[in-house]
Amino acid sequence: MVAKKTPGTAAAADTSAVPAARLAATAEPGDLAVRPGEDPWTAAEVDEARGELQSETERLRTEITSSEEALAGLMRDSGDGAGDDEADTGTKNITREHEMALAANAREMLTQTERALERLDAGTYGRCENCGEPIGKARMQAFPRATLCVECKQKQERRY
Ligand SMILES: [Zn+2]
Repeated sequence: MVAKKTPGTAAAADTSAVPAARLAATAEPGDLAVRPGEDPWTAAEVDEARGELQSETERLRTEITSSEEALAGLMRDSGDGAGDDEADTGTKNITREHEMALAANAREMLTQTERALERLDAGTYGRCENCGEPIGKARMQAFPRATLCVECKQKQERRY
C-alpha cells in the first residue's frame, strides 16, 4: 500500500493577537495620594523622597552597626569588672541601656524607612495606614517615613 501524501490539514494558526496587557508594574508618580488642593507628585519629587529614604536607610544601618559594636565592647568590659567600683559599674549599665535604646530606636526607624520605600514602589505611599485617606504631600515631604495622617497620628499620641 502506497502511503498517500495527505495534505496536512492546514490548521488555522491561532494568530489572534493578544492585546498587550497593560502591566501596572510600576506605580506612576501621579497615582500617589495627595490631599485636596495639593499638586500631584511629580517624578522628581518621588525621586527625591526615594533618595532621602535610601540615604536614611544607609545612615541607620551604619548607626545600628556602630551601636552593636559599642554594645559588644560594653559587654566585654563588664565581664572583667573586678577592678570597677560600684559607681563605675552603674555608669556602664546606664551607658549600655542607653546604647541598647539607641539601637532599638534605629532598628525601628529602619523598619519604617524600608516600609516607606516598599510603599513607594507599591504606589500606596502617602496614604494613611489607619484611615486610608491621603496623608498629604507636604507632610510626606517633611516626614518621608510618615504612615499616618495628622489626625490619626494625633489620635494615636493621645492614647499614650
Ligand atoms: Zn488617617
